[in-house]
Amino acid sequence: MKNEIPVKKNDYLEVSFEDLTHDGHGVAKVDGYPIFVAKGLPGETAKIKVIKVNKNYGVGKLIDIVTTSPYRVDIDRGEAHKYGGCQLEHISYEGQLQFKQNQVKQVLTRLGKLADVPVHPILGMENPWHYRNKAQVPVGERDGKLISGFYKPRSHEIVDTDESVLHIKEINEAIRIVKEIANELNIPAYNEEAHKGVLRHIMARFGRQTGELMVVIITNTPELPQQKKLVEQIVARVPHVKSIVHNINSKRTNVIFGDKTKLLWGADVIYDYIGDVKFAISARSFYQVNPVQTKVLYDKALEYADLTGEETVIDAYCGIGTISLFLAQKAKKVYGVEIVPEAIEDARSNAELNGFTNVEFAVGGAEDVIPKWAENGITADVLVVDPPRKGCDEKLLNTILEMKPKKVVYVSCNPATLARDLRILEDGGYRTMEVQPVDMFPQTTHVECCVLLVKK
Ligand code: SAH
Repeated sequence: MKNEIPVKKNDYLEVSFEDLTHDGHGVAKVDGYPIFVAKGLPGETAKIKVIKVNKNYGVGKLIDIVTTSPYRVDIDRGEAHKYGGCQLEHISYEGQLQFKQNQVKQVLTRLGKLADVPVHPILGMENPWHYRNKAQVPVGERDGKLISGFYKPRSHEIVDTDESVLHIKEINEAIRIVKEIANELNIPAYNEEAHKGVLRHIMARFGRQTGELMVVIITNTPELPQQKKLVEQIVARVPHVKSIVHNINSKRTNVIFGDKTKLLWGADVIYDYIGDVKFAISARSFYQVNPVQTKVLYDKALEYADLTGEETVIDAYCGIGTISLFLAQKAKKVYGVEIVPEAIEDARSNAELNGFTNVEFAVGGAEDVIPKWAENGITADVLVVDPPRKGCDEKLLNTILEMKPKKVVYVSCNPATLARDLRILEDGGYRTMEVQPVDMFPQTTHVECCVLLVKK
């Protein structure tokens, strides 16, 4: 029988891994039937146990590695490390970069039919650890003491740790000290099941260029017990602190923040820079979590835009205006559009903070606002898109094809939707000139790309 699945659940097998899935799992094939195994690496042979059998693929568990890949790094970083969201930490950084590079190339070829487009070597970090400028950790209680750290995967059990390998060290330290102070003051943790108690999350943000730190305490109750002492102690003991904020979230929910935010001490924002552009960051603002690599990515977007000072630029999906303000340094005029009103408020105040008078922002769907601009005679020489994972709305792509900007710069966080959208733009009269992958999130499977398209 041809279509019979060649393995059964609970089988023990020895397999060879040929490839990695986009989420970093090893792919082994048994008579053509693929089995995905977390932590398996191409070039390795391993003993696995089959734990799931679906029609088109199976899932296995790694039992024992027989031959080891030169890209495997075998450092036991302890239990806490496992839950820190580092899907690729078992691969050397060189191997991770190669994996991401290959993935971009493969996806563009397979889904975009763009085998001939040059994909430059991915730009990685010099030090791929401790890069995240923001942490938000859940707080719980064990044996009468506060604990905080990560949730174990698919559970709400907290692993107690202050040693995230992704967070900037100042942030780990701030969280450790705030937890210590809350313990000394006997502030109770929130209990999810009973929907009782106080402390839900501790958040810390750090401006890497300015050295300014913000602490946010998120509670279930409107009151924060021992507030005065807590604030005094944080000010006295947490290095770099410039702002202490209280947020209240009384709902039964997995969402971290509630609607009410109160300033407890210091400034209500901290500042940071990406290149020469200054940003004000409040407790609730969106801000890139790896500003070092954000600069690398946006420098590339600026290079691809190749502005002389005469151009009108549209930045679709502009968020808090990071790319818009980067481009405004070199363009005649920049129009940014974004669907979240609060992000546009931030974008406008950031434009003002930097003294830019050549940017205008609008709230709305890019696919609705840009056609309206076009009706009013606003067209772009360069159009930049930086959409969420699902890629560009088809209506927006059609608007681009009608507007015919000389250049399109596509910043993407998802190679699959990038490939799909590039194909549509290619068929509509654009040529994809080059693709530059950038590693914004080392140790994780995320891949970002900056792409230049020109009108044929
Ligand atoms: N370039 C931005 C971030 C882009 S992330 C920065 O650097 O800050 C993608 C953004 O697209 C998000 O802010 C999201 O809110 C926004 N968005 C999602 N759908 C949209 C749509 N249909 N029109 C405009 N913006 C949208």
